[in-house]
Amino acid sequence: MAGRKRVLIVEDNDINREMLADILDVNYRVLQAENGQAALDILAEQKNHISLILLDVQMPVMDGYTFLDRIKADKEYSMIPVIVMTQSNSEEDELAALDHGATDFLPKPYRPQIILHRVASLIKLRETAAIANLLQYDRLTGLYTKDYFYQKVREYMAEDSEETYFIVGSNFVNFKLVNDASGTMMGDYLLKEFSRFVKARLGDFAFCCRYSADRFLFFFKQEKDQLVWQKFVDFDLQETVPDFKNIVVRWGIYEIKDRTIPVEMMCDRAFLAADRIKHQYNQSWSVYDESLRDELLREQAIISAMDTALSEKQFDVYLQPKFSLSRNCMAGAEALVRWIHPEWGFMSPGEFIPLFEKNGFIPKLDRYVWEWVCAKLSEWKQKGYPIVPVSVNISRADVFHGDLVDTITSLTKKYDIDPAYLHLEITESAYTSNTNQIIQAIDHLHSLGYVIEMDDFGSGYSSFNMLSQMSTDVLKLDMKFIQNELAKPAEQSFLQDVINMAHRAKLTVVAEGVETLEQAERLMLAGCDYAQGYYYAKPLPLAEFERMLTK
Ligand code: C2E
Ligand code: CA
Ligand code: CA
Repeated sequence: MAGRKRVLIVEDNDINREMLADILDVNYRVLQAENGQAALDILAEQKNHISLILLDVQMPVMDGYTFLDRIKADKEYSMIPVIVMTQSNSEEDELAALDHGATDFLPKPYRPQIILHRVASLIKLRETAAIANLLQYDRLTGLYTKDYFYQKVREYMAEDSEETYFIVGSNFVNFKLVNDASGTMMGDYLLKEFSRFVKARLGDFAFCCRYSADRFLFFFKQEKDQLVWQKFVDFDLQETVPDFKNIVVRWGIYEIKDRTIPVEMMCDRAFLAADRIKHQYNQSWSVYDESLRDELLREQAIISAMDTALSEKQFDVYLQPKFSLSRNCMAGAEALVRWIHPEWGFMSPGEFIPLFEKNGFIPKLDRYVWEWVCAKLSEWKQKGYPIVPVSVNISRADVFHGDLVDTITSLTKKYDIDPAYLHLEITESAYTSNTNQIIQAIDHLHSLGYVIEMDDFGSGYSSFNMLSQMSTDVLKLDMKFIQNELAKPAEQSFLQDVINMAHRAKLTVVAEGVETLEQAERLMLAGCDYAQGYYYAKPLPLAEFERMLTK
């Protein structure tokens, strides 16, 4: 019978061996060896399939004790329970057997019922322990499992102590990307390396587990005035572990103030704090506080309201004029979305666009904005207005979750718009991720005649290097950059250098966020081509913009 557990009898005396075999044969599949060496050979062949060993100590070739020493020293076999058969009432034999690592002993002569009971209960015990062990450790990394971690934290929570504890959650920002690009083998390898590394960094007190694919949890005790977790998370992973040069990790910290809330919830909160800074380039850890929960509730409310908002046309598009500095006239506009919610009122895109970028709604909303713009351009043309090019914003998610090229080309076809009149502002979130997918989509659109503007240039994550990789027509200087540079005396500012460089690369330059006459004059002097900002005009509702256009 295949399902029967295997028991190995190691005994040189044929009669004794047969007797034992007869007893055990009722419930087990019995394997027999006449000395220690023969038993080792069987073990090597059957590896993990032996559930228990019955061992006689006095044998030729290799005696029972030597055999015991050998298997107890071997990681693969040491977990197999061994019952040693001793001479009746020999305390010396019994002690020696236990000393050598036997699990139990049975005196001769054999009593069948006792033997069957002993064997059954030892096998059961061993299996329970093996399961416990399995549940305690994560198979890939060898760290604790989530459940075991929870259990250990619960034990600390039940203690009556004044200690302050922290739970830290970690999350890889771009792990899926690594898995996709380098394969799951590489992903597994990195997870193992990360585990090894963090485990070595943990102090004596702390412990950790793998929570799920690329999420880990850590438990810390506050030591005197030191924030142990802070020391722990304060390192540059990419610099410390060479294989991690493309990996970004975010840490979330939760201080346990109320010990009665469920441990699962404490851990969720640590992860919430980590996820909040997922897309922040300059922050690697964040501490949970109650305001974060409120913020999350608000985010959830926004997310659940968006589909209705789109179908009920709560989104409106404003147009902000761009001015030609040399001709001193309106030369274009940027379409900026607004959300007028029936209850919450006016909402600025800064509040909802980042959320929509995260949850994948942005392609739907952007498609709506782009269509709105195309429809207006077509309407103005029919009405004989002096039309100007209008730019729309393109997010990273527009490329990843939508079919950018298809959407744009079919819209301009549908409304019969010359591609030169639809400018595409590639926002920072798109070009900093700098993947082939984005570069190819942009190149394609550029070759079809759409004008490509690189938005937010100078905001910190852009570089001329990126320009060389992506077809670009226009450099749009970031508002902060402009304001920073114009606050310096002209000779210290490198605004002029940037503009010169852009012109050498045959790029047109637009300055954003121009608020004063002084700024406008300096930009003109520096040779900047276009300007956009409150000094000229705020983003305007359609009717106002049309008045300006036709004036
Ligand atoms: P952006 O593309 O950099 O847009 C310029 C932002 O600066 C706009 O904010 C605009 O109202 C504001 N601004 C313009 N001139 C001035 C000025 O002189 N001073 C100051 N202080 N601000 C000025 P807004 O409309 O709140 O948009 C914020 C961001 O949201 C945009 O930044 C863009 O990244 C995103 N966004 C807006 N509409 C859309 C859209 O339809 N689709 C996508 N994907 N993103 C959008
Ligand atoms: Ca823009
Ligand atoms: Ca911008």
